[in-house]
Amino acid sequence: MSDCIFCKIVAGELPGEILYQDDLVAVFKDLNPKGPVHILIIPTKHIKSVADSTSGDKIIFGELIYRAKIMAQELGVAENGFRLIINNGRDAGQTVDHVHVHLIGGRIMSWPPG
Ligand code: AMP
Ligand code: ZN
Repeated sequence: MSDCIFCKIVAGELPGEILYQDDLVAVFKDLNPKGPVHILIIPTKHIKSVADSTSGDKIIFGELIYRAKIMAQELGVAENGFRLIINNGRDAGQTVDHVHVHLIGGRIMSWPPG
């Protein structure tokens, strides 16, 4: 999608600290980290939101979670714990309309989120 900042980061048209990329998913550092570790795992395909996904996207969503697990191990937060968050829609606080899984770790977190 031409005006999507996350598509542009994946395409190399906007700067981003990309940690991993393959055909289905990309991983880069969040610009405004909410913890010592805060990365975003996204589909390389433009999918607006979880609510906007289709049955054809099921493999992609599996890859997002699997990559999160691998990244948590690589970034050293798998043992102590980490949080995966997908904000969907305005009430949930989604500000970028391209599906992204937040992986936050490296600190103790409270529940429920605000
Ligand atoms: P959400 O509120 O769930 O839509 O999360 C959007 C996230 O994208 C926020 O945590 C932002 O800090 C992050 N973000 C926005 N623009 C960029 C960017 N150019 N590079 C990396 N992360 C970004
Ligand atoms: Zn996009």
